[in-house]
Amino acid sequence: MLPRRPTRQITLGDDRVGYVRIGGGKPARDGSPTAPAPVSVQSMTSGYTHDVERCVAEINRLAAAGADVVRVAVPEKKDTDALRHIVPQARVPIVADVHFHFQRALEAVDAGVHKIRLNPGNISDRSQVRDVIQACKARGLPIRVGVNEGSIIERRDKQKRQKELGAVFGDRKHGSLLAIMIAKLEEYLDVFYAEDFHDVAISAKSMDAALVVDACTEIAHRFDHPLHLGVTHAGPRETGCIRSIAALSALLCKGVGDTLRISYASDPVYEVEDGLELLYALGLRERKGADLIACPTCGRIQVDLFTLVQDVRRQLAEKIRLPMKVAVMGCVVNGPGECEGADVAVFAGDRRGIVYVQGRKVANVPEDRILGTLLDECLKFQSRVERGEARLGQKTVDITPPDPIGDASTAREKIAAGKVDQAPGTSLTIGKS
Ligand code: SF4
Repeated sequence: MLPRRPTRQITLGDDRVGYVRIGGGKPARDGSPTAPAPVSVQSMTSGYTHDVERCVAEINRLAAAGADVVRVAVPEKKDTDALRHIVPQARVPIVADVHFHFQRALEAVDAGVHKIRLNPGNISDRSQVRDVIQACKARGLPIRVGVNEGSIIERRDKQKRQKELGAVFGDRKHGSLLAIMIAKLEEYLDVFYAEDFHDVAISAKSMDAALVVDACTEIAHRFDHPLHLGVTHAGPRETGCIRSIAALSALLCKGVGDTLRISYASDPVYEVEDGLELLYALGLRERKGADLIACPTCGRIQVDLFTLVQDVRRQLAEKIRLPMKVAVMGCVVNGPGECEGADVAVFAGDRRGIVYVQGRKVANVPEDRILGTLLDECLKFQSRVERGEARLGQKTVDITPPDPIGDASTAREKIAAGKVDQAPGTSLTIGKS
């Protein structure tokens, strides 16, 4: 398990949707101990909040994909009015995302949201920020205070901007921006502390992955509030994924980060799926559903593995509830090793698939039956685990790896050499293409 930085803990939710805790490890204000909560995954709806039916459908689609918390934008009064109908139908805690208009935050609190996201950088009147803090305090709601690279720099007062840009952190690549982010955050938090309000999560976002790492690392040293991680405006999934994972995994590996949102210019369900996959990969969340391992294929490939892997992935997502390890391998080179380590696995050879369950060979089938056989075995294995007759990750058999010298050859040659079973009732001709 990776280390986790101890933080204060915030809690959002209610008895109907349940409670999501963020951060932890430091004593609560009443002195009671808190344990770090699992890193939660957030996303944000992409449609209009005032379109109640669609907004509820999108929230619950994100919840079904695994989102722990969903945020909605409330730019207009009709959006906060809609929240009264949305919140009671949502399956997860709802955060109202407020910019510019403090009234939206007050209306969202009245409408029953579970948390407010505030950017004090675009609410210049501090008395308005104080009103929001007091409203949240009265209802026991936490607030996320966000500093975004795009909205922290003073744009109206050029002299002030120059002064800010020349501040500390000059030795860092993003020294000026980092200095502004920290200074702004300190200024914002002083407003909260003056109101004796501490149920605060912090975020510091940029589209630059390196700046996000630098800023969040610095913030983690200076403040003990839970951190919401994200690379903002990361772009479409194809590039945004790399940008986000680069920053977030660097931070999570250092124990920094208590909740995250991966943001794409795409269907937000992908944000949830990729956020969860990141946490599964780092061992920060217990996987729900199968863990699919597949080889990238190469010139030794013996079946149409790309199609097979996609079909297996889709079916596993629908049918498998347990975090079983499933391996789909293209040939005998790495096939046996992965099959030995996986709960259910197949490796291909000569247009056939040899299927294993926890290291025991259970089938040798032609290519068109690999998918069905593999899934049958996964379902049978799942039932056995649920009946207590098998355990996930239990190795029962050692598969002797094939001789590596003989591996740089086709499966036909391996079958001919007796290293891989030949299908009963079939003939084998070496050299036939
Ligand atoms: S398992 Fe076989 S086909 Fe897949 S990448 Fe490795 S050598 Fe190539």
